[in-house]
Amino acid sequence: MQKHNFSAGPSILPREAIEATAQAVLNFNNSGLSVMEVSHRGKDFDAVMHEARILVKELLSVPEGYSVLFLGGGASLQFCMVPFNLLERKAAYLNTGTWASKALKEARAFGEALEVASSKDANFSYIPKNYTVPADVDYFHITTNNTIFGTELADDPKADVMLVADMSSDIFSRPVDVSRYGLIYAGAQKNLSCAGVTLVIVKDDMLGKVSRHIPSMLNYKIHIENDSMYNTPPVLPVYTALQTLKWIKSKGGVAGMQQRNREKAAILYREIDRNRLFKGTAAVEDRSLMNVCFVMADGCQELEKDFLEFAQSLGMVGIKGHRSVGGFRASIYNAMPLESVQALVNAMKEFEAKH
Ligand SMILES: *Cc1c(COP(=O)(O)O)cnc(C)c1O
Repeated sequence: MQKHNFSAGPSILPREAIEATAQAVLNFNNSGLSVMEVSHRGKDFDAVMHEARILVKELLSVPEGYSVLFLGGGASLQFCMVPFNLLERKAAYLNTGTWASKALKEARAFGEALEVASSKDANFSYIPKNYTVPADVDYFHITTNNTIFGTELADDPKADVMLVADMSSDIFSRPVDVSRYGLIYAGAQKNLSCAGVTLVIVKDDMLGKVSRHIPSMLNYKIHIENDSMYNTPPVLPVYTALQTLKWIKSKGGVAGMQQRNREKAAILYREIDRNRLFKGTAAVEDRSLMNVCFVMADGCQELEKDFLEFAQSLGMVGIKGHRSVGGFRASIYNAMPLESVQALVNAMKEFEAKH
């Protein structure tokens, strides 16, 4: 049976990227060797790293004066690396979910980290709008897409300070004005690659301003000077990332992704709003195009398990909601085809007809 993979992360990747990776695992560039068993400093892998960096810059129109890094440690390591490298006096954080809260918690180990607003009061079901960011902060940290709660910042927030963003779950899903950002980071396993690599885009002049000593492995400057090869990079996830980036380019770049993502999200949200058995959990104006959270409508809660089993019987994978929201979460990242979203919508209609 065809599977429809709605997993939140690790999650669906373009078939082309998986097949190209499988091929390179067996025979990398017709070398007769696996990409897993050759030197990361050899010319073949060096070309992979180089091309991946160039494609990131091209797809996101990264301006001059920025560096692109592929690091280990996941987005969670960035929660600490960001303040380690950038927080000297004070930083501001927008608390929009579990990941944002973790980022804020780490920052507090390095200096003053101000929570400018939080939507914790309503289980992070909306993005706070009315807040002020002090002008004297080193940066303002946001989480552009809240993977667990299904909310997303549709636009860059207005602030006169440099933004730092965790874009783990919506990177490359839409155009971004990188010039507003001092640093962008994204764990790969939502929209870019398999787990094991983290993309960092950093404005060079943000660095070198803190007075503390930074250990080499946690120091962006060291990684920039060494072209992400200060130590052995996660070669296989970088290889897969390159294949995904090529796929994005072939599908019209991030503008093409945005158009497809809008279309997919629209048909799913339309069904959630129409179907009398279901209701969305996120504030309508803040709904994520990547993670669609919904629960059984009032009075229908006892059908939750039945729908889960029904959807699973039709090949749907990974739609069970995160424990902090409950219900269902359909993650419809870049690689998710429209047909799979349509299959879920059809399952919801069919389930409604039966009850
Ligand atoms: C998944 C996720 C993380 C955590 O990523 P790791 O690579 O597991 O550390 C952080 N932030 C967001 C927004 C995420 O979706």
